[in-house]
Amino acid sequence: MRAIDLHWLWERDKWLPLPDLVYRQDGSGSGVYYPPDPSPFFLEDGNTIAGLNGIICVSPDHNDTEEAVANTLAHEWRHHWQWHSGKPWTPQRWAQCSADEYLGNIAAYYLRSRMEMDALLFSVRAAPSELSSEWVDAISARLQGYQKTT
Ligand SMILES: [Zn+2]
Repeated sequence: MRAIDLHWLWERDKWLPLPDLVYRQDGSGSGVYYPPDPSPFFLEDGNTIAGLNGIICVSPDHNDTEEAVANTLAHEWRHHWQWHSGKPWTPQRWAQCSADEYLGNIAAYYLRSRMEMDALLFSVRAAPSELSSEWVDAISARLQGYQKTT
């Protein structure tokens, strides 16, 4: 199963150091990227890793299919690529939102951040998932709404 490791992504960007890959619930999203940092990173079992090449965390609760895991890995891999490419990447927080505004908030989130949009589009190309495609559709609908009002 290709989704359990990063080598299928590394094949695209062989100049990048391989980050550590950790499966654990971390924050409210499906994944998190931690840029290289020499301070200890604590695993759920109490052990630590150094994370000198960066760390990609995948949250099992939000990735219940291989398709979802692969999409999350691709998204976080892109943040890894951004960091090593000197892009001004900063983590973005999800806005609190009610369930009926979910897709609108998704669209606003990605439209606010060029780096998040880049990671979303990369993940849709590298490992499309039902959810990521739904998000791209929501962004597209939002953009068409902007066009109608201008
Ligand atoms: Zn992201």
